[in-house]
Amino acid sequence: MRLFVDVDDTLILYDVAGEQHPCGLVYGQAYTVNEELIKYIRWFALEHPDALVVIWSGGGREYAEHVARLAGVDNIGAAYLCKCPDTFALVEEDSIVFDDQEIKVPARVWGPRDVCQVPVV
Ligand SMILES: [Mg+2]
Repeated sequence: MRLFVDVDDTLILYDVAGEQHPCGLVYGQAYTVNEELIKYIRWFALEHPDALVVIWSGGGREYAEHVARLAGVDNIGAAYLCKCPDTFALVEEDSIVFDDQEIKVPARVWGPRDVCQVPVV
C-alpha cells in the first residue's frame, strides 16, 4: 500500500481558482492548507507504518519538502520526490493517489477534496 500526494492545489489549495500554479507558493500565491487531506495522511501513516508515503511535486523534491514543512506534515516520515514520468512508475494499482490533475498512473487518482470518498484501507 502506497500513498502519493501532490503539493500545488492538493496539499495546499490556492485561494484563486481556475489557474495553474506551477510552484505557486514561491511566487507568493495566497493559499490555505488542505487540513482534511493532512488528517488523512497522518491517519494513513499511523495505520500503515511500513507503507511508503510520498509527497511529490512537478516543482521538484525540495519544493515538495518545503511545502510539506509549511503545511506541518513534514514529521511523518514521508519521502519527497519530483513528480515526473520517471517516478510515476512507483505507483501501483492499489496505491492511493491525490492530485488536482489527471496523471498517467495505474491507480485511481482522487481529487484534493475527495478524502471522505476514499475507501478505508
Ligand atoms: Mg497540483
